[in-house]
Amino acid sequence: MIIATTTSEVRGQVQKWRQAGLTIGLVPTMGYLHEGRASLVDKAVTLCDKVVVSDFVNPTQFGPNEDLETYPRDFKRDCALLEEHGCALVFHPSADEMYPDGNGKTDTYVEILDEMPRQLCGKTCPIHFRGGCTIVAKLFNIVTPDKAFFGQKDAQQLAIIRRMVRDLSYGVEIVGCPIVRETDGLAKSSRNTYLTSAEHQAALILSKSIFLGQKLVADGEKDADKIVAAMEANIKTEPLAKIDYVSAVDGITMMPVHMIGNGTLVAMAVYIGKVRLIDNFIVEE
Ligand code: AMP
Repeated sequence: MIIATTTSEVRGQVQKWRQAGLTIGLVPTMGYLHEGRASLVDKAVTLCDKVVVSDFVNPTQFGPNEDLETYPRDFKRDCALLEEHGCALVFHPSADEMYPDGNGKTDTYVEILDEMPRQLCGKTCPIHFRGGCTIVAKLFNIVTPDKAFFGQKDAQQLAIIRRMVRDLSYGVEIVGCPIVRETDGLAKSSRNTYLTSAEHQAALILSKSIFLGQKLVADGEKDADKIVAAMEANIKTEPLAKIDYVSAVDGITMMPVHMIGNGTLVAMAVYIGKVRLIDNFIVEE
């Protein structure tokens, strides 16, 4: 596995692969890999000849009060896991390599201007998706992948990236990958490591409420407000849980819906103690 820290190294390697007629998959990550993030690499390996994984904690998607400095990092462990999963090149740039003006600063952003990035998670951190789009656009320009892989766990991010690709005519196919869960149901996340064992138990209320919502839909309930209310009531039975939002939205536009239909996204963010966790499901009819 090649470890690259500069854009020119990545471009040089990609050029060689292109000349050999190979296809390239990109998996953007913020590192600290777990089986959820690694599942994207597994998928990419099945669909592309060479898989590039970016391992970069992106400063432009953190708000001023967010956990940029304390965000967990373990590049050595990431490399071992990535090699095991068949990654061909890991791109691990410094913040200055990606943002040459220093301090994670840039004056050029990619931003979707309609309501989409301001719904759901965008309500608590309005700059998050602007930073995410900007770094993904930069990675697309550096790696020029045929396909790029994103988790359904971050459903709003996935929808926003699809929209950016459409609006900016990127010639990259976006592949969404299913949520990977612990055996007890909790969606895998780097933030799970912040949970005490009591909090981990309490956090199971997220996936339990997701499964409850899915069951109501499977039983034929079409009223989105009733489903959201039942999920919220379920979450409130857990004393350590504090709801940020539970919402049913159109899976493409992220705008609220009142009737459940094919493609509806039911998403939640819930604080367990100080840790903010997300989970969701998509309705498939
Ligand atoms: P991040 O490093 O948080 O940006 O995550 C990297 C990628 O892994 C994103 O596309 C996430 O949606 C995806 N991801 C994170 N957790 C999971 C999970 N539990 N299951 C599937 N994909 C995930």
